[in-house]
Amino acid sequence: MFERVKLKQIKDHIWLMNDNDEATGYLVVGSQKAVIIDTMNGYENVKEIAETLTSLPLIVVNTHGHPDHIYGNIYFDEVFIHPDDMALAQHFYQEPLFTEAIEQMKLKPAAFRPILSGEMINLGEIELEVYGVPGHTPGGICLLDRRDRILFTGDSIIEQTWMQLEESMPMEVFLHSLDALKGIRGEYDFILTGHSRDIEDASLYEDHRNAVKEVYEGKNEGDISYEWFGGTSKAHPYGIEPRRIVYK
Ligand SMILES: [Zn+2]
Repeated sequence: MFERVKLKQIKDHIWLMNDNDEATGYLVVGSQKAVIIDTMNGYENVKEIAETLTSLPLIVVNTHGHPDHIYGNIYFDEVFIHPDDMALAQHFYQEPLFTEAIEQMKLKPAAFRPILSGEMINLGEIELEVYGVPGHTPGGICLLDRRDRILFTGDSIIEQTWMQLEESMPMEVFLHSLDALKGIRGEYDFILTGHSRDIEDASLYEDHRNAVKEVYEGKNEGDISYEWFGGTSKAHPYGIEPRRIVYK
C-alpha cells in the first residue's frame, strides 16, 4: 500500500517509519492518544500510515524545522514545534517546489503550535518530556520516553550531525545543549534519531558529545573535507564510519 515508507516495529506500541532511507519518523501509541514524531518528506500520507496501526487521536510533533522532518505536515491540521524553529519551518513551507506540489495535491501544511522545553506530551500511561537542544537548528528538541527508556533525538544526536548550516548555532552553544542532557542519561538505554533504520544504543550520546567537544576545542588533526549540496565543509570523524560532526 505504501511504497516509500517502510514500517519497523520497535516495541509493541512503537513503530519506526523509514521514508525511503531519507528520513525517519515514529509512532508511539499510549492508552489514550498516539504521537507522530516527525512527518518525513510528505510523499506518502503519514496520517493514513499511522491509522493502519492505531485508531487513537493523533498528536504530531516536529523535532525541528527541516523539510525532511516537516513536509508530511500537509496531512494534518496542527503540529507542535519549538518556537525557535518556527521561522525556519515557515521558510521551508515557502519553497516553490513544495508549494507547487501541495497545490496540485490540494493540501496545505499544518499550522504550527508551540511546544517548550519541560512540557509533557501525555499519551496515557506513556509521557514524553520535551528537551530543547539548540545546535543543529535553534529550536531542535529531544523527547524522553521514560517508560520505554528511549530518547528520540531528531538530528540533534545522530551519527552525522550537520552543524555547517546557516541556521546552525555556534559549536559552544551545541556543546552546552548536549551537556545539559547529562542529567537524564540514566533514564534511557536507547536512542531513535531522525534518520535511524533501527534502534540505537544510548552510548551514541557520549560518543557524539565528546566529538562535539573536540571540534569546539579545535582538535582537528583527522578532519576531512565534506561535500554537500551547499558546498564544501569540514567533517570531524568519530567512532565507527560514518560517524562525523560536519562544521564550517
Ligand atoms: Zn535537520
